[in-house]
Amino acid sequence: MRRERIAEDIFVFISDLYAQVTAGVVLTAEGAIVIDTLPFPQETVELKEFVERYSHQGVRYVINTHHHADHVYGNYLFPEAELLAHERCRKALLRHGQRGLDEARVQMPALSEVWLRIPDVVFDRGELVVHLGGKSLHMMLTPGHTDDSISVLVKEDKVLFAADTVMPVPYVVFGDVEMTIDTLKYVGSMAVDSIVQGHGEVLLRGEITETIKSSVKYLKAIQKHVRAAVESGAPKESLHSIGIEECGKSRIPLNGLVQQLHLANLMHLYDDFSKQNV
Ligand SMILES: [Zn+2]
Repeated sequence: MRRERIAEDIFVFISDLYAQVTAGVVLTAEGAIVIDTLPFPQETVELKEFVERYSHQGVRYVINTHHHADHVYGNYLFPEAELLAHERCRKALLRHGQRGLDEARVQMPALSEVWLRIPDVVFDRGELVVHLGGKSLHMMLTPGHTDDSISVLVKEDKVLFAADTVMPVPYVVFGDVEMTIDTLKYVGSMAVDSIVQGHGEVLLRGEITETIKSSVKYLKAIQKHVRAAVESGAPKESLHSIGIEECGKSRIPLNGLVQQLHLANLMHLYDDFSKQNV
C-alpha cells in the first residue's frame, strides 16, 4: 500500500490490493479522523497501526463517503470510533450491505473476518461538521456516482476528499450521469488545493480544473455516442468500438481498469437510453 503526505497532518493511503481505492487520515492533537476504510483487513490494519504510532488518542471518527464495499469494509476495525455518513448511506447498508458482504465472502476468503458496521451518526441535509483538534471537516452531499455520495472538506488545509465523485474515469453505473455532471461542476468550482480521488492519484491544484473539465467532457461524449448508437438501432456489442480515448480519457490509470469502467458506463447508458426510446 502506498502512503502519501498531502498536508502537514493529512495522509492518503492508496490500495495495492483493490483498484487503487483510497482512504484518508487527518491527524490532530485530539485524535485522528479516518475518511473511508480499505476493503481488505490487511490494509486497513496497516492504516490503523500508522495512526496509533502518531496519535495516542487513536481514531475518534470514521467517515464513510458512500455505501460501496470497497470503502466501508474496514469499518469494523475501529470499534472505538464514531462512524459518520449520510443518512442514505446508512439506509443503503441496512438494505443491501449484509447480502453484498455474504456474496463477497464466497469469492474472497480474505473477507471472512469482516463484519458490517453501519454508520450510527448521520445527516440528511446541509452539512455535517466535525471539529477536532483545530481541524474542521465539512461533509456535504455530492450525489452522482451514487445518491449517497458525500465529499469531505478539510477547511484549514483546503483539501477535498471527493471520493468516487472524482475518479480517473467517472463511473456512473450505480448512479446518474446528469447528476454526476452537475456535481463535478460544483466540485470544480470549489477553491481547494488538492482533491483526493476515491481511486487513484491525488489531484494537485494545477491539475484540478483540467481534470474536472475533461471528466464533464467525457460524460457528455459517452452520452452522445451511446445515444447515437441507440437511435440508429445498433446492437449493444457495437459499443465496444467506442474507445475511451475517443471520449477524451486516458486508458492507462488504475492499471487499465478504467477501460472496464468505461465499457460498463457505455452499457449502462445503452440500457437507460433504450428504455427512454421505447
Ligand atoms: Zn469506489
